[in-house]
Amino acid sequence: MFTSFLIKYAEIGVKGKNRYLFEDALVRQIKYALKKCDGEYEVHKSQGRIYVEALGEFDYDDVVDQLGKVFGISGICPVVSVEDEGFEKLCETVIKYIADVYPDRNKTFKVHSRRARKNYPKESMEINAALGEAVLGAYPEMSVDVHEPEILLNIEIREKIHIYSKVIPGPGGMPVGTGGKAMLLLSGGIDSPVAGYMIAKRGVKLDAVYFHAPPYTGERAKQKVIDLARIVSRYTGPIYLHVISFTDIQLYIYDKCPHEELTIIMRRYMMRIAEHIAQETGCLGLITGESIGQVASQTMSSMVATNEVCELPVYRPLIGFDKQEIVEVAEKIGTFETSILPFEDCCTIFVAKHPVTKPSLKVIRRHEHYLDEKIEELVRTALETDELIIVSEEQ
Ligand code: ATP
Ligand code: MG
Repeated sequence: MFTSFLIKYAEIGVKGKNRYLFEDALVRQIKYALKKCDGEYEVHKSQGRIYVEALGEFDYDDVVDQLGKVFGISGICPVVSVEDEGFEKLCETVIKYIADVYPDRNKTFKVHSRRARKNYPKESMEINAALGEAVLGAYPEMSVDVHEPEILLNIEIREKIHIYSKVIPGPGGMPVGTGGKAMLLLSGGIDSPVAGYMIAKRGVKLDAVYFHAPPYTGERAKQKVIDLARIVSRYTGPIYLHVISFTDIQLYIYDKCPHEELTIIMRRYMMRIAEHIAQETGCLGLITGESIGQVASQTMSSMVATNEVCELPVYRPLIGFDKQEIVEVAEKIGTFETSILPFEDCCTIFVAKHPVTKPSLKVIRRHEHYLDEKIEELVRTALETDELIIVSEEQ
C-alpha cells in the first residue's frame, strides 16, 4: 500500500547556506543505503523535503531497516500516494487508509492538510473540516483532538495526493560526510567499532587502521576486523581500512624496553603510525575506543602519554561509558556478536603481568631511546607495507 517515504530530518544546524550541503549528503547516503535493497528507487529533494519513491515492487521492512541506518534522518514516514480523482474519492481513500494502518481505532486524531497545488478547489481549512467529518462518520469510535492527537493525519496536495501519519524514528545525527573525516583505530574488540559509530553519527566519514601482528594474530583475527568494519560501513558508507604489520615493531619493543611499559610504548607507536596515515589521507582526528580506567593502559596518565605523540586531536567518545553501556550500543548496531568471537588481538599477547598504570612521561621518553637504532626503519617499513582494503556492504 505504501509506495514512498517522506524523510524527516532535524532542522538544527541546517539553516542558511549549509542547508543544501546537508541535504545533498543525506540524499547521497540514502542512495547508498538503498543499494542494499532489491528494487529501484528514486530519491529527490522537493520544496525542503526529501522523498524516497519505490519505482516498482519492494520489500517494505527491508527499506525501513536500511533507512533506519542513515544518520541525519530523524523520522521515516511511509506515504500512500494517489491520483487526484475528486474530493469524494479522497475521503474514501483516507477512510480505507485508516482501516489498513490502524486496526485499533479507539484513538484521537487531527487532519492536517497542505495545499502545495493552489488550483485545488478547496482550501486547507475546508479540507481539514470535511475530511475530519468523513472520518468521524466512518469510525464513530474515533474523536478529534486538535492539540495532542494520537494520529496526525497529513494530507499533502501536490501533483498527486500524499497521505501519511506514521513516523518511524530514524537514528538522528548528521549525514556522513558533512563533518570531515577521521581515522579510527579499529581493533577486534567491543569498544572501537562503537567509538567509530558514535563519531560517524555526527557526520564524520571514517577511515580505519588495524595493527596486525602475524603470526601472533592470525588471518581470522584480521578477518574479524574486516567484518566489523563492514558492519560499521552499513551506517557510514565505504571504509578505507589500512592493515599495518606491527609484529616487528612489537618484538623490537619487547626486546629493548621494560616489559611493564610495553603496552604504553606500543600504544604510542600505534598512535604515531595512525597519525601519519591520517595526515596523508586528509583525516582531521584520531578515534579510539578508550574509556577511563577500563584497563591499565586507559588511565588518565596513560592517555597523557599517548596524546603526547600526536598533534591531531584524539576523539574518545566512550570516555565516560561503563562497559555495560558500550555493550548495549554494540548490540544495537550489530557489532557485538562479531566482537566477542575469540580471536587474539595483538595487545592480549604481549601484555605484561603488571603493566604500569601511571607511566611517567620522562621515564617513557627515556626508555623509548633504547629503540633508537632500528625503530625509524621499522616504522617506515610498516608504513610502506600498509595493505589498503576498501570495505563496503556492496561487495
Ligand atoms: P577494543 O574493544 O576497541 O579492542 P579494548 O578494551 O580492547 O578496546 P585496548 O586494547 O586497551 O582496549 O585498546 C584501546 C584502543 O586502542 C582500542 O579501542 C582501539 O581504538 C585501539 N587499539 C587497540 N589495539 C588495536 C589494534 N590492534 N589495531 C588498531 N587499534 C587498536
Ligand atoms: Mg582490544
